[in-house]
Amino acid sequence: MTRSVDARSYDLDDLRERVLAEHGGAVDDSIPQLASADPDLCGLALVLTDGTVRHSAQADVPFSVQSAVKPFLFALALLDTGGDALDLIGIEPTGEAFDAVKLETGTGRPPNPMVNAGALLTGALVDGDDVAARDARILRGLSAFAGRQLDVDDDVAHSEHLLGDRNHALAHLMRSEGTLSVGADDTVAVYARACAVLVDARALAVMGATLACGGVNPVSGERVVPTDVARDVVSVMATCGVYDGSGRWMRSVGVPAKSSVSGGIVLAAPGVLGGAVVSPPLDEQGTSVRGRIACEALSAELDLHVFGSR
Ligand code: GLN
Repeated sequence: MTRSVDARSYDLDDLRERVLAEHGGAVDDSIPQLASADPDLCGLALVLTDGTVRHSAQADVPFSVQSAVKPFLFALALLDTGGDALDLIGIEPTGEAFDAVKLETGTGRPPNPMVNAGALLTGALVDGDDVAARDARILRGLSAFAGRQLDVDDDVAHSEHLLGDRNHALAHLMRSEGTLSVGADDTVAVYARACAVLVDARALAVMGATLACGGVNPVSGERVVPTDVARDVVSVMATCGVYDGSGRWMRSVGVPAKSSVSGGIVLAAPGVLGGAVVSPPLDEQGTSVRGRIACEALSAELDLHVFGSR
């Protein structure tokens, strides 16, 4: 029996019930819209490489994508710069929090595209002469990954822009190092809008599946990014996607992933499936507590660990 057959009959509502019994973690309070999230929201979705979509209850409840957007911003920056983004941003794990106000020693580059410094820069590198043009390009690209039109929650974007002091600090730091050529405030505005894009577990799982399928959206059939871009993005998710928890994640889940402060996690198991989980209470590294438990269970029960026995 192949793993994809297992995923086809896997009971995601049963997994949802199992993880809902867990009660650790705390909802992010960096902006009011995240602080008021329902701590008992829990949705899961899997998208197989043949385009089959499996989901639990609440997989259609919208939430802001937050840092789960970072792999896709990196993909768009690689695409729009013809790969030059790889010279401008590092790809090494930091062992630090996602919003550390720190750049690579010596180069002044962001350490990797999965922390805020790197994501601010990838948002600035996508095509577009101003905030509105880059915002539109990002929304178009993210929608292609999701296979449906996505929208920005303007209130969330406004709060992120207003309250994201560390992001403003990082943008100014990159300006002072000569790493960032566009305006600092515009850079934060574009990043804030990218973080405020509304997804649900189902859409986020399709986005992950597009990376897992080498850049082709398995539901729409559209090639969104070239194979080498998808490979680069998934490689950096594997090493840096869960910030200073990336090593532990790789050992216990073993599937390239990106966490976010809204409690979403996107998974990309190359050649096998994409997945997403959302549950807002977070651990100290900003990873969904139930999301981690769900991903560990999915990995074990569907034999997804990239270094597993299979
Ligand atoms: N918008 C959030 C921030 O910049 C995203 C962080 C995250 O999800 N880890 O700070």
